Amino acid sequence: MKMFNFNCPRCGKFFYGDNTLIELKAPIHCPGCDKYYQYEEYVKVSEGTKDTTLARLNKPLTEENMLDIIYIPKK
Ligand SMILES: [Zn+2]
Repeated sequence: MKMFNFNCPRCGKFFYGDNTLIELKAPIHCPGCDKYYQYEEYVKVSEGTKDTTLARLNKPLTEENMLDIIYIPKK
């Protein structure tokens, strides 16, 4: 099972999820602030990296991209 890590840009909560959620394009839920992130919001940064477990934001955090952040650590 592949997992992803997500650092909520809204409340800073760090949590984990099953990659199946991403494959199903399901929304992910932040247990910290109760916000749901839609697939379109969190997947942008990992586009084009389908077969890798690593997706990292390599640019500064801005208002524009803060909802795009999703970080999947390399094992
Ligand atoms: Zn949150």
